[in-house]
Amino acid sequence: MSNRDRLRYVLSCALGVLFLLYLFTAEQNFISVWAHPRMTALHTLLELFAITVASMVVTSAWYTFNRGTGRHSQIFIVGFTVVVVCDVFHVLTYPGMQDFLSPSGLSSTLFYWLVGRSVEVLTVSLVAISVLPRMSRWLSLGVGVSLSAAIVVFGTLFLDSFPQTYIAGVGLTPFKITYELILFTLNLMLAVALQVQAQRQGSRVLSLMSLSSLFMGLGSLAFTSYQAISDIQNLGGHAFKIAAYALLFRAVFISNMTAPFLALKASERENREFREVMKTLGANLHNSVIFQVLRKPGGRTRFTQVSESIERINGIKAEDLYRDPTLWKRLIVQQDRGLYRATERMSLEAMMKFDTTVRMACPDGRERRMHFVAAPRKLTDGTVVWDGLATDVTEQYQTEARRRKLEAELNQAQKMESIGTLASGIAHDFNNVLAAIIGNTQMVIEDVRHQESAEALQGLSQIQKSATRAKALVNQILSFSRKEAPVRTLQPVRPIIEESLSLLRTTIPSNVAIDERFDDDNTYALMDSTQIQQVLVNLCTNSWHAIGERCGRIGIHTSLVDVDSQESRHSSLLPGRYVRIRVEDDGCGMDSATLQRLYEPFFTTKPPGVGTGLGMPVVHRIVTSHDGHITVDSSLGGGTRFDIYIPGVEAIDGVHEESAPIAHPKVMGNGERVLYVDDDPLMSQMVDRMLTRARFKVRVVNDPHVAVELLQKSALQFDVLVTDYNMPGLTGLQVIEAARHLREDLPVILLSGYVSEQLRQAGKRQGVGFVMEKQKSLEELSGAIERALEAYATEKIQ
Ligand code: ADP
Ligand code: MG
Repeated sequence: MSNRDRLRYVLSCALGVLFLLYLFTAEQNFISVWAHPRMTALHTLLELFAITVASMVVTSAWYTFNRGTGRHSQIFIVGFTVVVVCDVFHVLTYPGMQDFLSPSGLSSTLFYWLVGRSVEVLTVSLVAISVLPRMSRWLSLGVGVSLSAAIVVFGTLFLDSFPQTYIAGVGLTPFKITYELILFTLNLMLAVALQVQAQRQGSRVLSLMSLSSLFMGLGSLAFTSYQAISDIQNLGGHAFKIAAYALLFRAVFISNMTAPFLALKASERENREFREVMKTLGANLHNSVIFQVLRKPGGRTRFTQVSESIERINGIKAEDLYRDPTLWKRLIVQQDRGLYRATERMSLEAMMKFDTTVRMACPDGRERRMHFVAAPRKLTDGTVVWDGLATDVTEQYQTEARRRKLEAELNQAQKMESIGTLASGIAHDFNNVLAAIIGNTQMVIEDVRHQESAEALQGLSQIQKSATRAKALVNQILSFSRKEAPVRTLQPVRPIIEESLSLLRTTIPSNVAIDERFDDDNTYALMDSTQIQQVLVNLCTNSWHAIGERCGRIGIHTSLVDVDSQESRHSSLLPGRYVRIRVEDDGCGMDSATLQRLYEPFFTTKPPGVGTGLGMPVVHRIVTSHDGHITVDSSLGGGTRFDIYIPGVEAIDGVHEESAPIAHPKVMGNGERVLYVDDDPLMSQMVDRMLTRARFKVRVVNDPHVAVELLQKSALQFDVLVTDYNMPGLTGLQVIEAARHLREDLPVILLSGYVSEQLRQAGKRQGVGFVMEKQKSLEELSGAIERALEAYATEKIQ
């Protein structure tokens, strides 16, 4: 209730009271003189107005908006039906009116008057104390009409049993005056009670009812003091009554009609504004489309909401999508449709979040990558509704791809740096190996010249040993520097660490001791061996630098640890089993400033040329990509300890260490005739010597054309054809093809410096059973020839 309402209330009260004071003090004046002869008509007119207002109260209660909650409408219907009837009979029986059901006269008219006022005050009281019956409006009307009928019957037939209210010549009886005073008191109390309630609830309706009761009460007071019915007090009392009814009508009308209507209008406006906001929001969403889609139990789908941003993002109109719900889906590129359908099915069947990213070919020719997220919910009729958001993630995706590429490049660059570190050590080792080979060769030449074969043999075995070592070194470096996408496989941890350490031992000077300890040989982890090696190389190189020229030690300790939920709270590790690789040194250690920036790219405390600041960030990234965790413990002068945790397991069934390649027993031939085709004379010479030694009969040809000619002369003069692939003139495959024309079942072996999958396939197509790498051929060729011959033999028997 506003202040203005309050002021109005107070003013109305004051006006009412002043008017009453005037009525009490006024002399019977010209109004009463004028009114006297016309009283019947005048009264009818006044009451007509009151009856109309009372009827309007019934009507508006009848058509109340909130019939369910507004139960006071029922009481108004009952009460005011009675009031209307009483007022009508009050008019009909007024002195001067023609007799209707019973003779007209003051006692009759006053009876209806008093009953009407009583019912009115009772009705409003019931509303005020909220004693409200639960009934339909028809029943209410029925009750009202019945009560009225009973009152009319009483007023018509049994009026004598009603106390006297007026005695001609004397005036109003004490009963009538007392009754009016009681009505006045009741109305006044009601007015106060209603006003208190109105203040508490801030309700204008209650305030109006309170004012109405007050006026009604004041009217009662006025009716206590007239002598003649045309007295100004009587007229004034009627005026009060009309005012009271009008106020009540206003209250009922507000609560039943205006208020709900205004509320409706307000909510409609809010609704409209909300829709507007949603619409602009949807249209202006930079990268996303808001949508809602329904799927009826029969399977029909329909979009109920699509933000206008779809036009900008996917180039189709929301209206078109309402019309044709498959339009959006049809933009999905062929390869991604299966994925979309599968996600859709899963979301529908399991009622789980729909979440997928697909590529869409938009009408303007652009390809967009769209991320759909939608939550499904089921309505009671079985309809499934998805409320979702589709976001264009093309740019993020490209950025991510670029980031991954850069990361791979950084990784590779850092690896090259590590190799640089290692290379100096390896080169040194390699030089030693070469020196041994050269020296021994020199000696063997001398020995052979002097026919000292025993010495020569010893020298040759030295040479072989050194060469094998050289090969191992080269392999190590090669395996480390390979540029491959990281592949994590479940593999034993120990060999990987051992290989890294053997690599490091060649690099790190002898003042630094490297101790390794493995608590458990059977530890396996899901890892990329090259990356884990890189981690160890980086950590150990740092340790070595930290130790410097002094004597020091690097300890590498591998164990399997269980992290429980208690410990996991302190780190970002989930509880579970981990391989812990601990790398510790007794070097210079780090101060807190260095520790803080340890994993920062390009942070280094080393002079240019020694440090690049890439080691630790790469270590961190590799460990994280292995779902692992790294901790560091270091203090200035107190050494450093790194713990790396990677999810690990103990050897489980079916997981075994990769068995070492089976060493082929030296296979000896039995005079089988081999045609060897290779344009490289050195290689040919070596193969010739080796196969001859293995008791094969070898014919070496350096020109593929010559080989074909030989075969043409007689294909049967050879038992097996071994040919190099890459040769000038004809390729190995072409030689084989020619041979196949001449002799379909000739066993063949193809050699190549590099065996690609493509070459292997091409060989297969031509029925080449063996495609081998040239480097391997020296060790394995005789075995391969034997197997090729065997395969041929079994084929022939069959
Ligand atoms: P770089 O070795 O090229 O300087 P890193 O990222 O490998 O770059 O290391 C960053 C810095 O962290 C090093 O410069 C060094 O100060 C410090 N650091 C790393 N490991 C150790 C260690 N084991 N002992 C002492 N300091 C270390
Ligand atoms: Mg480093």
